[in-house]
Amino acid sequence: MATIVAFHAHPDDEVLLTGGTIAWLAAEGHRVIIVVATNGEIWPDQHRGQRLDELRASAAILGAYKAVHLGYADSGAGPVLFEDPPGITRFARADVEEAARKLAGLLADEHADLLLSYDPQGGYGHPDHVQVHQVGAQAARLAGVRVVEATVPRELIARFGRLLLMLRLVTRHRLDRMRGYGMPQSAITHRVDVRRYAAQKRAGLAAHKTDVFSRGRTARLFRALVRSPLPMFRIACGTEWFAEPGGRTGELVARGQTTRASPTGISAQHQPPLTNNPQVSAICQPPTPYLGPSQVKARSSWVSVNVAAR
Ligand SMILES: [Zn+2]
Repeated sequence: MATIVAFHAHPDDEVLLTGGTIAWLAAEGHRVIIVVATNGEIWPDQHRGQRLDELRASAAILGAYKAVHLGYADSGAGPVLFEDPPGITRFARADVEEAARKLAGLLADEHADLLLSYDPQGGYGHPDHVQVHQVGAQAARLAGVRVVEATVPRELIARFGRLLLMLRLVTRHRLDRMRGYGMPQSAITHRVDVRRYAAQKRAGLAAHKTDVFSRGRTARLFRALVRSPLPMFRIACGTEWFAEPGGRTGELVARGQTTRASPTGISAQHQPPLTNNPQVSAICQPPTPYLGPSQVKARSSWVSVNVAAR
């Protein structure tokens, strides 16, 4: 059993970018911890904590061990970075070193073997997503943990961007900018076939009711995905992509890999006191397993394909 920490910007990102991978790793018996930087709220009490509740539900569906909020507020995707809400810092404004130390402390405490983070532009340039890349990279360095970055092939977005805009499945995105989202195929080191976990991924997405019923710029896409028949969802969301800095192309998690017994190489001075740090709040203790033992057994023979890009 290995321990994998999936670091994300907002509740819902964990499903969209890595939901199938989390479900696969959990079904294989690994311990997956989801860490979200923000609570997904731009204004004080905007959703009254509901988005973190939805994350908890999604984490349970995906089979994650627990979900943790790193203690920041959503920065919003607009051109203006608003003042911080009372008592909480917007993640885009967070000190990278300080946030990285918090995450590195968690990586050390949990004896993490692998950190999933974001590509350098956070997929599409949202300031919180870019910050996830920076904080994730620095935390991995501090804790001495391997990092692999979730992304989307740029060529794929260039191909379907116009269609998504035409159908108004995404709004307030510009096609010329969309062509620069994600990473080029040549930089992608891991493609994970998650079609077997499509039902879990779709259910995880549906748990994010705030998104599904919102008027946000991806709400129509959310609704379309949640309502799409499984075979269609499998086509749309059946692959997840990662780029490993340095181009390493080994398996994401080797078969039979176990968590390191000793703490990571992070020095004590970088390790924040997690247990009494109110900003790192475990919002989800071991959730109810979504898969019954028989289902896990049935799926454990499936071999994931994590191959190098050509
Ligand atoms: Zn996000």
